[in-house]
Amino acid sequence: MSKTNRPPDSAKLLHPGGHAPGDPLAPSLSHASMFHLPSDPAPGQAVYGRADNATWQALEAGLSALEGAPTLAFPSGMAAITAAIMARLKSGDRVLMPEDGYYATRQLVQQFLVPLGVRLVLRPTLGFAEGGFDGFAVVFIETPSNPGLDLVDIAAVTAAVRAAGGLSIVDNTLMTPFGQRPLALGADIVVASDSKAPGGQSDVLMGHVASHDAGLMDAMRAWRTLSGSIPGPQEAWMLLRSLATLELRFERMCASATVIAERLAAHPKVQALRYPGLASGAEAELVQRQMQRPGFVIGLTLADKIAADGFVARCPLVEAATSFGGVHSSADRRARFGDAVAEGFLRLSIGIEPVDALWRAISDALEG
Ligand SMILES: *Cc1c(COP(=O)(O)O)cnc(C)c1O
Repeated sequence: MSKTNRPPDSAKLLHPGGHAPGDPLAPSLSHASMFHLPSDPAPGQAVYGRADNATWQALEAGLSALEGAPTLAFPSGMAAITAAIMARLKSGDRVLMPEDGYYATRQLVQQFLVPLGVRLVLRPTLGFAEGGFDGFAVVFIETPSNPGLDLVDIAAVTAAVRAAGGLSIVDNTLMTPFGQRPLALGADIVVASDSKAPGGQSDVLMGHVASHDAGLMDAMRAWRTLSGSIPGPQEAWMLLRSLATLELRFERMCASATVIAERLAAHPKVQALRYPGLASGAEAELVQRQMQRPGFVIGLTLADKIAADGFVARCPLVEAATSFGGVHSSADRRARFGDAVAEGFLRLSIGIEPVDALWRAISDALEG
């Protein structure tokens, strides 16, 4: 691991400092929309709730400790992605996105920005660098891709994008800063949905952006304030509470996913299995180089729709639900949402259940 790729500062997250005697240890929750303002505001003074909130600031201090860079909180992953895209794109620009990544990201550009003159180019995640990056204002990278779990070489692609004069945005939702550090690998902006593992309890939607570029951060902050795409204080507080245990949960989820993926790969009912921890050849070398952990999401292909739906219905420890990253294992048959995957493909998200009990439930449900 290179020096710039050091692990997140979770001690700083847990001990942010800056307190006075009598201050509560737990962050307080501020709902204020108005602030006393007798004269011209001093620099940094809170003025209005659409621009200023103490609970966001506490959350952003925690997120910044994890990202090792300045961060801004948003009310969902898509709100964060929108801010990152709007920070730079203008009419006439070309943007490159994965054709097999998170569907809402490309649909956002297709439905709202293409009519305003943005040109969208889509490529498969596998071979993303083929064709080069000349002429793209923004290159959007998702690795591992959701749901196919294909990989992009972040260091190679972000360097090539920068050399071609473009901006790179990496969606790090599947990995969190404990699994992968795109900014250290050269990304200009990291975006993430914190509705997944960072929240972890399936009860909050949030997202964030992170960047070392002050101009980009100013633009994304202005986007948030002017568009009003602001987190609710309650959700910010809930996410901050969850962040304290993210490393523990993520470690457990990744360790269990490794065990489950190995056993699934050897199971006769499994037609195909995709998991970064079981990659081979050049892909394994890339996993080794750019990922600190293999993640908790497994791409599992069973015979067909009936086999996949039946498996999930029979398994008491795997909830049938879309989204992922909760403390409870869950599975989503992605073809039902139109992803270009096999009818029997499940995106299996491994939770924090005791791994032996989880495997027993999974293997019993596979037997039918
Ligand atoms: C879920 C997800 C998003 C969107 O996040 P929301 O919080 O649902 O808006 C973006 N990218 C990826 C990879 C995701 O999995």
